[in-house]
Amino acid sequence: MLGDRNIRGMIEKALDRLHDDLNIKIDKKNPDRIHALEATLCTRLSYYERKDPIPEDNASKISILLGHGIRNALSNINAEYKIDSLTLDTNADMLMGEEFVVRFEIVPELPLVPHPRHLLYLNACLFALHKDEGILIYLTADGRSVEYSVTRNNRMFEEIVRRARVLSTLLKDNKVPIIEPSDLCMKCKYYSRCYSREKTKETTDLLQDIFGKLSPK
Ligand code: SF4
Repeated sequence: MLGDRNIRGMIEKALDRLHDDLNIKIDKKNPDRIHALEATLCTRLSYYERKDPIPEDNASKISILLGHGIRNALSNINAEYKIDSLTLDTNADMLMGEEFVVRFEIVPELPLVPHPRHLLYLNACLFALHKDEGILIYLTADGRSVEYSVTRNNRMFEEIVRRARVLSTLLKDNKVPIIEPSDLCMKCKYYSRCYSREKTKETTDLLQDIFGKLSPK
């Protein structure tokens, strides 16, 4: 507290405002409009984010702000792709020479291969922007980077459209999607809705029990 003002509360409110302003606008009320980011994530996570969201904690808000802050400094191009009644929304970061679609991903460590989720997303941007080539650039906070080129691919696009359709249908039917176990689960705020965690005995006791049984008599 500074005087009678709650500084922490004020900072949190300011963070919330920035987060709401910068966050990619997803039309959460319309199940016929799916953002490509939602379709590349776990379907269950995207469903919860629309139907029964848990608010982001401050650490996640700051990390989202940093990522979107960089995006806002770039051109941030919105484009959509219509397939029957379904609309797939995308946001690319830049168009280079009117030819290459660029997407940045801010990561703690540079990956050895591009993440499939990021490839699916950039490929969706290529279709929405009617371009053939894309560049996926991974950046770390200390300025290291690695780039991958991506060529427009029909199969990958069919996959993201299929995932968007599934999410759209489940949203309309109010049916929670099945669990998709992946590396995302480890840091997911919905972990406890998907997996039950029973506390076991102290680990050392348990290991002693197990290895005690295995040791020669
Ligand atoms: S914990 Fe895993 S399966 Fe559950 S919503 Fe999160 S990412 Fe999806």
